[in-house]
Amino acid sequence: MNFAQSEIIQKEAMDHIVGGVNSPSRSYKAVGGGAPVVMEKGDGAYLYDVDGNRYIDYLGAYGPIITGHAHPHITDAIKKAAETGVLYGTPTPHEVKFAKMIKEAIPSLDKVRFVNSGTEAVMTTIRVARAYTGRDKILKFAGCYHGHSDLVLVAAGSGPSQLGMPDSAGVPQSIAKEVITVPYNDIEAFRDAIEKWGPEIAAVLTEPIVGNFGIVEPFPGYLEEVKKLTHEAGALLIFDEVITAFRFMYGGAQDLLGVTPDLTALGKIIGGGLPIGAYGGKKEIMEKVAPLGPAYQAGTMAGNPASMLSGIACLEVLQEEGVYEQLDQLGALLEKGILDAANKYNIPVSINRLKGALTLYFTKEKVINYNQAENTDGELFARFFKQILHHGINLAPSKYEAWFITIAHTKQDIEETIIAVERSFEQLAH
Ligand code: PLP
Repeated sequence: MNFAQSEIIQKEAMDHIVGGVNSPSRSYKAVGGGAPVVMEKGDGAYLYDVDGNRYIDYLGAYGPIITGHAHPHITDAIKKAAETGVLYGTPTPHEVKFAKMIKEAIPSLDKVRFVNSGTEAVMTTIRVARAYTGRDKILKFAGCYHGHSDLVLVAAGSGPSQLGMPDSAGVPQSIAKEVITVPYNDIEAFRDAIEKWGPEIAAVLTEPIVGNFGIVEPFPGYLEEVKKLTHEAGALLIFDEVITAFRFMYGGAQDLLGVTPDLTALGKIIGGGLPIGAYGGKKEIMEKVAPLGPAYQAGTMAGNPASMLSGIACLEVLQEEGVYEQLDQLGALLEKGILDAANKYNIPVSINRLKGALTLYFTKEKVINYNQAENTDGELFARFFKQILHHGINLAPSKYEAWFITIAHTKQDIEETIIAVERSFEQLAH
């Protein structure tokens, strides 16, 4: 494959855009460097780069693109929005319609508010939980990513259940000390932290099914116990469903798992590819938000007609019969193909898959927490990533991310992908 144009554009990008990318995860730093491929067109399951190469895409823009690129129903909705004005700064009927659709899909939401990103959604759920409880601390889980606001860019401190350390320059120590981080899927560590800090904790924040150190499901009973202990401590439970909502079923992971939180943060899929976030929850908690209550949150672009119409169209597509069954079937086919290829070439892998999302880890262990994901072979992943890119498969350039199948992927795409995986494993084995 020839990447000449990508390289020229990336060289120029380095002069004008910090690091050449508008989000650090797009750089190839985690896979040994090099110029990231520059894409210029998406169509269904495919992306096309500036050199004319075609890729079967499993990045899915880090999650939002579940219907495939440029889905006609969503494209029509965005065209309509463009023709009727993209921003009014007033209420619109679209936001009411969309709020109702989201509430119907995720019954724990009595009231919602639209924002512009998952980061904003999570950040505001924390503010609302603090306003509601009158407490300051939050508890989160190692390896879960919740956007780039100060409070969630905090890593675990030196021992288990210790107060946090800034995970980014610019996050004050005074904020980090409000955050407790414990390992996911470890109820004893959680219980210890609640015993120690419980009365000071405003909220426990978690991805109900993890998407950010690969796809990791909670142990049976784990989230139920987390919820119980959280409530016993007088804290609120927040689910960050920015990745998970509408990914595995029509609705939230909370409905799939049967555990409901007090507040939920949404994003990604619900915008159909346009910028969006949303948060919501119990009426009495959400009524703390301005203009009804004292917790302030606002947004010039929030609930903009383009994102609303795109989101409505996306959910309409996802309401069609058989969507999630198809994603599951293709996911199972891909998982089996990868495992067979790994066996054939003796590559140590394990896969976590739920429906149409999977993570391929270079380890023999079943990954259930961040520590294990961290200890998988990043060097082998980096080599695999580069090989499979050359075979026309676009993945996230990080060992921690998921492969997202869309409804535009076909059995043939999956078969083509399995051949590319085999060839890549063959190259790794030599
Ligand atoms: N929460 C989760 C679980 C995410 O995966 C992400 C982004 O990857 C965010 C929040 C932040 O969303 P955004 O990038 O839209 O700000």
